[in-house]
Amino acid sequence: HIDINALADEYLHLAYYGLRAKDKGFNANLITEFDSSIGKVDVVPQDLGRVLLNLYNNAFYATQQKRSQLNGQYQPEVKVTTLRFDGRIEIRIRDNGIGIPEHVKSKIFQPFFTTKPTGQGTGLGLSLGYDIITKGHGGELSVASKQGEWAEFTIKLPYVSEAE
Ligand code: ADP
Ligand code: MG
Repeated sequence: HIDINALADEYLHLAYYGLRAKDKGFNANLITEFDSSIGKVDVVPQDLGRVLLNLYNNAFYATQQKRSQLNGQYQPEVKVTTLRFDGRIEIRIRDNGIGIPEHVKSKIFQPFFTTKPTGQGTGLGLSLGYDIITKGHGGELSVASKQGEWAEFTIKLPYVSEAE
């Protein structure tokens, strides 16, 4: 049983510092809102970590794209929220990057779908993440977005009570 808040926090910083090692001028606000009553969840930590890492990398990438569009007047921000809700837990990852157009949104969970230039994305992250969360853990992975403004990915996982 895994401490979701610790895992979500650890991978957020892993993604951010990994990125900053390559792009030293990159600076983002990292905001975490963790539900301390979230308890432990029955997941494979490496698997969930892999899903989180891709979601974080995607989120930062979307803010980098917006930064290069707006040059200057823009502060990248990635917010991670955890909560316990209706017998399950949720992890929400929200960025204020370029967002996802409607016609793209329907394709992002397909294997090999990417809008990134050759060499920068395999298009496998979200399709793999979807399988890990749904087939691997009986959860759900969903997306909401406003084009040009923000994107938010939500992982839902079944809650396992402390007593189990
Ligand atoms: P990759 O990162 O290799 O492109 P993914 O499966 O992780 O593959 O993502 C697929 C596509 O979904 C991305 O290329 C991008 O178009 C879109 N996408 C994913 N996350 C975001 C986000 N946070 N903001 C905007 N677009 C996103
Ligand atoms: Mg990706």
